[in-house]
This record gives sequence, C-alpha cells and structure tokens, in this order.
Amino acid sequence: MKLVNMKEMLIKARKEGYAVGQFNINNLEWTKSVLVAAKESNSPVILGVSEGAAKYMGGFKTIVGMVEGLLEYYEVTVPVALHLDHGSYDGAKNAIDAGFSSVMFDGSHYDIEENKQKTTEIVEYAKLKDISVEAEVGSIGGEEDGVVGTGEVADAEECRMIAGLGIDTLAAGIGNIHGKYPENWTGLNFEALGKIQDSTDGMPLVLHGGTGIPEDMIKEAISLGVSKINVNTECQLVFAEATRKYVEAGKDLEGKGFDPRKLLAPGSQAVVDIVKVKMDLFGSTNKA
Ligand SMILES: [Zn+2]
Repeated sequence: MKLVNMKEMLIKARKEGYAVGQFNINNLEWTKSVLVAAKESNSPVILGVSEGAAKYMGGFKTIVGMVEGLLEYYEVTVPVALHLDHGSYDGAKNAIDAGFSSVMFDGSHYDIEENKQKTTEIVEYAKLKDISVEAEVGSIGGEEDGVVGTGEVADAEECRMIAGLGIDTLAAGIGNIHGKYPENWTGLNFEALGKIQDSTDGMPLVLHGGTGIPEDMIKEAISLGVSKINVNTECQLVFAEATRKYVEAGKDLEGKGFDPRKLLAPGSQAVVDIVKVKMDLFGSTNKA
C-alpha cells in the first residue's frame, strides 16, 4: 500500500473516539519495528520524522525510499502516513518535495500573525500534492532537537485563527512537554483543552509529548478531541534498556553476538512491543 496523508485516519479517529499514534523513527530498525507493530495490531500509524532525525538518516529522500520499500516488502496494508515532525518553513517544503505524505509546520515560536502567514503558505503548497498539514499554537515544553519550548497553554482564540487556515490537525500546548515529565508536573490542563476543542469546531487535535502521561489523562484527552498522540522518548527508553541488558549479560561476547542483526534485535523487539501497548491504549488497534 502507498503512503497516505493523515486526513482520513484522523477524521475517522475523531469520529470513533480513539487516537492514532505518531511514533518517531530514527533508523531502519525503528521503522521496521513500528510498521510491524502496526501490521500486527491492524492499526493505522503515523511515522514521525524530526528534521534532526532526517539529517541523521541521510535526508528526506532516503527516508521516503526506505519507508516505501518496507511497505512493499512487509506487505503492509494498514494506513501509514510519513509525517515531518516540528518542521521549519523550508523543511516542510523540502519534505513535501521529497515525497512525505504529511507535514507539521511548527510556527509556534513566531508571533501569531507570522505563524498565520507562514502556515497559510505551507497549506497552499501542501494542497497541490494532497499532503496533510499539522500546525502548532502555544509552544510545547521540554526540548526537541535543540528547540526548547516553555510549555505554555495555547490561547483558544489563536487556535481558532490557525485552525481556520485549511490545516488538517492542530497541536496546542495544554501543559504537555517533550521528554520525561518532571516529578512536580501538574498534569494536562483539561479546561484549556475543552476551550480549544470548542474554538476549533471539531478539528482533530494533537497531543505532543505522549511519554509518561498517565493512562487516565490520555483517555480523557481523547474524549476531548485529541485524535493523534506523539510518542518518541518512550521508544528510545525501551530500546536502550533492552540493548543495555543484552550487553550487560555479555551476549555480545558469545559466539556471533556482536553481529548488529543480533545486537539490535532485543531493542527492536522492545519497540514493537511498546508500540502495540500504545496502540491498545489509544484505541487504534483493529481500526485500520
Ligand atoms: Zn512535539
């Protein structure tokens, strides 16, 4: 199956009351793991790629080739979107040119007028190729690829303005942050989420920083219009943990245990497992 944009999968998720997971990829193993999990869970999935990860993997075209090859090789028939995460203005255009099926333009660090202007331009460019667009209002806390957000709560009126620009989905800060949550985190701001939902007229919303948010909060967020949840750090943590266990057990020193196909296998399986757990939690299992 060819890559699809996020539009249909998020409208369906919004209507049926679940969320589609965006899992960020870092290399071949990661991509295989997320696709295998989606296939086995019969779930739609969004592969997230930050600009930093794109550089690491050898550019957008390399990623498009890798993902399209894997879809064919593994006979993946569930809907898969390849999405630029936190794209810059130029990055979003370049990802579209390279064959991504979806982009996020993160203009949250501009003032609202400039965010509006640039988001409008990206939407116009994306529509020519039927690419879905995610925009952002109110920066999300924590650090993502060197971009540090302060974790503000998005203004509902600004959300209304950006949602009206022809985008498909909106990321709005509601106290969520990237990376691990600190001990003193006060939780998601559901009052703000409710206002954002009201002001954006049923638009599917995105929750960034999905790692470590308690399950009951995830479910409440979905009930208030969150239809896409981004998971990145959690996959990295389980991959590192499984790999560390393998090495600490001395398995890389036994026989051909140093072979990367063996060395990276436990971490890769850990990513498959955690992605399936998240798909169950988000309610997207068997919704392909
Ligand atoms: Zn994010």
